[in-house]
Amino acid sequence: MTNSATAGLPARTSSRIRSLGYIGLTATDLDAWRTFATDVCGLQISARSTEEQLLLRADERSWRISVTPGDGRLTHVGWEVAGKEELDLLAAELDAAGVAVDDPGTADERGVTGLIRAKDPAGNQLEFFYGAKMGLDPFVSPRGITFVTGDQGLGHVVLAMPDMAEAQRFYLDILRFRVSDWVNMGPFTALFTHVNPRHHSFAMAPSPGPAMMHHFMLEVADLDMVGRTYDLVTDGAAPLTSTLGKHTNDQMVSFYMQTPSACQAEYGWSGRPIDDATWTTVVHDKPSIWGHRQVGPGPGAPQGG
Ligand code: FE
Repeated sequence: MTNSATAGLPARTSSRIRSLGYIGLTATDLDAWRTFATDVCGLQISARSTEEQLLLRADERSWRISVTPGDGRLTHVGWEVAGKEELDLLAAELDAAGVAVDDPGTADERGVTGLIRAKDPAGNQLEFFYGAKMGLDPFVSPRGITFVTGDQGLGHVVLAMPDMAEAQRFYLDILRFRVSDWVNMGPFTALFTHVNPRHHSFAMAPSPGPAMMHHFMLEVADLDMVGRTYDLVTDGAAPLTSTLGKHTNDQMVSFYMQTPSACQAEYGWSGRPIDDATWTTVVHDKPSIWGHRQVGPGPGAPQGG
């Protein structure tokens, strides 16, 4: 039955993107990253790592975080789609929306079967892929950490956006990320979005400066893993940037620390999932129910979700 009220509205309301698949960072000191990844975060160094590329595992995938030599900035964010058909359709949709998209021919290097890339309006390099390689060996965390990944993906990333309206058009209208909520951070409001039950895989906050990643988040399976890691960090294993706290929107209990790159890592437990059938979007007047006191000189943008 045709309903005139819905005529002209897009038929597809969910994103072709299933999850945050991987991130690529740079750092001046790869050895520092190796130590931070294993001794603090509990990530495993992938056997696919080379002298020039540190590949880190958080689960059975062959890698989830790559670190290459550089000035500390984000090099790419990898978003996973279900398969070739979805990747082809996404490429066609990006093209139709006027977004330049190409195949850089780096699928092998990334350990995936198919890959395309495009830039978001802030200039962040995004990759869309399917068919990720699983690791040759079982995932074994050097600190006995279990990361919450699976259909919720790696975790989340929070990027600063010079133009929020443009960014929203790209991420909401073209990629069809769904709004989770907004959080008032004081001088500005951040937007949190989801592509699967994880409360947010991607958040954006306005920033007059150049595009940058404020933080990425790793979720672990129990509170003691957060607590023990917090002990290590407060004892000096890495610079603490925000104390233990609980977020208003995803209700994650977490803390923040400075990585050897120009971004922070949020380390948390028990983020609440979203069920799209019942979820309604709200505006939170503050980012945290308790805690998350800023204690260090983190890069630029705010503590958020
Ligand atoms: Fe976060």
